[in-house]
Amino acid sequence: MRLVLVGPPGAGKGTQAKFLAAHYQIPHISTGDIFRANLKAGTELGNKAKSYMDKGELVPDDVTNEMVRDRLNESDCANGFLLDGWPRNVVQAEVLRSIMLEKKTPLDAALEFSLANEIIIERLSSRLTCRACGAPAEAGATNCPACNAADLYQREDDKPEVIAKRLAVYEEQTAPIISFYRNEGLLISVAAEGAVADITKLAIAALSKNK
Ligand code: AMP
Repeated sequence: MRLVLVGPPGAGKGTQAKFLAAHYQIPHISTGDIFRANLKAGTELGNKAKSYMDKGELVPDDVTNEMVRDRLNESDCANGFLLDGWPRNVVQAEVLRSIMLEKKTPLDAALEFSLANEIIIERLSSRLTCRACGAPAEAGATNCPACNAADLYQREDDKPEVIAKRLAVYEEQTAPIISFYRNEGLLISVAAEGAVADITKLAIAALSKNK
């Protein structure tokens, strides 16, 4: 399964990605997680990304695209992958299309998680993130729901002033990839409201119908 997740920040892509990657036994590739790991490790890539991430802006395409191209060339991606957070604009979607053409391995689907803006803002401003594994956790949690580490924090870019910017960037730059994938005949949309396990089931059912 070669899958792309699309949807606004806070739609639950990270949470669903973990379940879907486990279900299909494919690597979960999150560009946001890769950037955060590099920031934490103080690498050159992390330093390059930091100023954009802090402002809720997109890291430049040349930096991001090369990073993903390298990741997709790793052996664990040979039989599939789940991309979470990339592509995030039409240029990136075109780069993915050309990588897939080069590899002669077409994408199976772009799975869109849709959610109302009010719910997004409420979710993002209260969510916590695990410093150990990057999984999101609900407000008030003390331990990570994925790895149980007691090391939860609020991401710099989940603070109210940055959330507004991220949503504007999503509308302007990322939402157009929904039409891109619809035109390619690859778009599958799932409403991202409700219990996490129900949304995972809906997504798996929609993907299996697509086959
Ligand atoms: P995320 O964890 O996916 O919300 O990403 C956090 C931040 O990382 C974004 O707000 C961007 O600054 C940066 N980022 C992640 N993925 C991309 C991408 N595909 N293109 C550009 N910047 C990205």
